[in-house]
Amino acid sequence: MKLTILGCYAATPRTITNPTSQVLEIKNQMFLIDCGEGTQVQLRKHKIKFSRINHIFISHLHGDHFYGLIGLISTFMLLNRENDLHVYGPKGIKELILMQLKASGSYTGYNLYFHELHSNESEIIFEDEKVIVKTIPLQHRVYTNGYLFKEKNTQRKLNIEAVERHKIDSCYFQKIKSGGDITLEDGSIIKNNELTFDPDKEKSYAFCSDTVYNESILPIINEVDALYHESTFLESEAHLAEKTMHTTAKQAAKIAKEANVKNLIMGHYSTRYGNINLFKEEAQTIFNNVILADDGKEIEL
Ligand SMILES: [Zn+2]
Ligand SMILES: [Zn+2]
Repeated sequence: MKLTILGCYAATPRTITNPTSQVLEIKNQMFLIDCGEGTQVQLRKHKIKFSRINHIFISHLHGDHFYGLIGLISTFMLLNRENDLHVYGPKGIKELILMQLKASGSYTGYNLYFHELHSNESEIIFEDEKVIVKTIPLQHRVYTNGYLFKEKNTQRKLNIEAVERHKIDSCYFQKIKSGGDITLEDGSIIKNNELTFDPDKEKSYAFCSDTVYNESILPIINEVDALYHESTFLESEAHLAEKTMHTTAKQAAKIAKEANVKNLIMGHYSTRYGNINLFKEEAQTIFNNVILADDGKEIEL
């Protein structure tokens, strides 16, 4: 699983920082999470193929999280995209996008599906054989969801040494990985546990931006491999965090600790601070495994 941060700063785009957007590569799928202004340029810069993005998850309808969406949808059109595109986001997102397409006399040559969210409970919004995505209801000035991405490792791992020893043909590998036993030509049966190892532990990633300090998310994000949690302010500006319904670095660290996550990735920094290391220093007084997101950073999970 690989996370590429395209933008991770709050509010206005600047020459050196971009608003929120990131790409999660999970089980060969590319999921785009939020789509602030400049997302297309960042995708180009980091050589991420537009055609590989089939699912876009929007947390909320503040501009710094979705003003790049109409541009990206239009570019897909210019690139003669044929694949379906699925957009997940708050109720109202469909009307917003369709109004702009209509006003500009545009239409997409591909199928554009909107999955509008309105529940205040966590729900499964995407599932295939390899990945499951759930919402993480957040509390912010408008209706907001974070997203939990989880791998599904249903296949066992092949014990190469064992299959070679029994001279098993590669055409049986899929059966073995699915848990099947093998009957050899002499009639003897090799049990699956002799030929395989347990699957890798399923990895998980939780994206939480924007939100107030909110302990009700703890059961949903419990023990994830990586938690991206917004930390717009430092504790010295806790009054601003409260007023604007954001989180401080210390509060983000508290959530990471309480949820017993492996790594905390911080971002959505207010541009008032000159040095993002201050966020790490403050967070590490509570929780040690802190990664500072930054535009263009790639994080292997
Ligand atoms: Zn924001
Ligand atoms: Zn916001």
